[in-house]
Amino acid sequence: MPEGKCPVCGCKQFYVKNPEDEYDIFEFECKGGKVRFDTDMDASETPAVDESTETFCNDCAWHDKFDKLK
Ligand SMILES: [Zn+2]
Repeated sequence: MPEGKCPVCGCKQFYVKNPEDEYDIFEFECKGGKVRFDTDMDASETPAVDESTETFCNDCAWHDKFDKLK
C-alpha cells in the first residue's frame, strides 16, 4: 500500500466523485495509505475507495486510479 501522496505535487488531500453524480465530490486525506474522509461526513454516505477508483488531487490537476498514489 502506498503512503498516499500525489505523484506530481506530494499533496495528501484528494477527492473522489460520486459515481452517480460527478458534481458531487468527497474530499479525503490519505494517511499511511488509508482513506480518511472529513469527520463531519456520515460513513454511510461516503463511497468505497479501492485501487481502481478514479482519484483527484486537491492541489493540482493530477488524477488517476487510487493505486497510482505514491
Ligand atoms: Zn497533486
